[in-house]
Amino acid sequence: MKEPTLGNPQNTIAVLQKYQFRFQKKYGQNFLIDTHVLDKIVQAAEIGKEDFVVEIGPGIGTLTQYLAYHAREVLAVEIDRALIPVLEETLADYDNVTVLNEDILKVDLNALVQEKNGGRPIKIVANLPYYITTPIIMGLFESHVPLESVTVMVQKEVAQRMQAGPGSKDYGALSLAVQYYASPYLAANVPPNCFMPRPAVGSAVIRLTGHKEPPVEVKDEKLLFQIIRASFNQRRKTLANGLRNSQELGLSRECVTEALSRLGKGESIRGEALTLEEFAALANHIYDRLQEET
Ligand code: SAM
Repeated sequence: MKEPTLGNPQNTIAVLQKYQFRFQKKYGQNFLIDTHVLDKIVQAAEIGKEDFVVEIGPGIGTLTQYLAYHAREVLAVEIDRALIPVLEETLADYDNVTVLNEDILKVDLNALVQEKNGGRPIKIVANLPYYITTPIIMGLFESHVPLESVTVMVQKEVAQRMQAGPGSKDYGALSLAVQYYASPYLAANVPPNCFMPRPAVGSAVIRLTGHKEPPVEVKDEKLLFQIIRASFNQRRKTLANGLRNSQELGLSRECVTEALSRLGKGESIRGEALTLEEFAALANHIYDRLQEET
C-alpha cells in the first residue's frame, strides 16, 4: 500500500489550492501538517493490521492516509460536503477506506460496528473538531459503542479536565465520565504550529482505553450521570443545593438530606470534593430511596 503523502505544509497547500477549499470555522477545521504528530497518533493508538478504525472528521484525508496504511479497515465520517471530492482523490490509493458524508453526532455507530465489524470492539482515532469534543466523547461512552480505545487530539485544557481528580479546578463531569468508562493516557502535547490554520490554543493527544468493567458498581448508570451533572451545574453552590435544584432529578429535600447523611457528608460539602466511588455510593443511596418511595 502507498505510503502517506500528506502531512506537510507544501502538499496540504497544494490540495487546498487545487480544490479552492475555504476553511469553515463552524466545523472546527484545523488540519494537521506535521508528520511527527501523525506518527505519534498512530503509535499512541497502537494501530495494527487487525484493527477496524473509525476516524471522526478526516478533513482532506491526512490522518486517514496514515490510518489506512497501518490498519485493516478505516471508516471516516466527515460532515463537510466540500471535502468529499478532495477525499476521493487523496484516498484513491487506499482500498480499505470508506468515507461517510454525515454528522458524527447523528450516526448510529452501534449499527455500523455491528454491520462492518461484526460487533467487535473498534478503535476511534481523530483530530477532533474542538467545538463538539465533549458531546462526541460522552456520546461514544453513553451509547456503549464497543470500544477498544479512543485516541484523540483535543484542546490541552480538555485533556487536563479528562485527567483531573477531586479538588482540582479542572475536575468536573467530563473527568468523572472518563474515569468511569476508561483510563486516560496523555500521549503528546502539540503546539499550534502543527496545524493549518493555527488554533488559538495548545492541543494534546490523549488515549482513553475502555475499562472491561466500570471501576464502581452502580444500580442505575443514568441516575449516576444525572447526579454528577447536577452537582457541577452550579459550581459555587453546595452539592445539596445542586441536587435539590435539578429539575431533571426532581428529588425531594428529605431524599437529598438522607442520601448525604448515609454517605457520611454534611450539607456544606461541594461536588468537586467527591470521588467517583463517593458519587457511585450517593447514586445508589438515592436509587434505594426512590425505590422505597414508589
Ligand atoms: N483529520 C483532519 C486532520 O487532522 O487534518 C481534520 C481535522 S479538523 C480538526 C476536524 C474535522 O472534523 C474537519 O474536517 C471538520 O469538517 C470535521 N467535522 C466537524 N464537525 C463534524 C461533525 N459533526 N461530524 C463529522 N465531522 C465533523
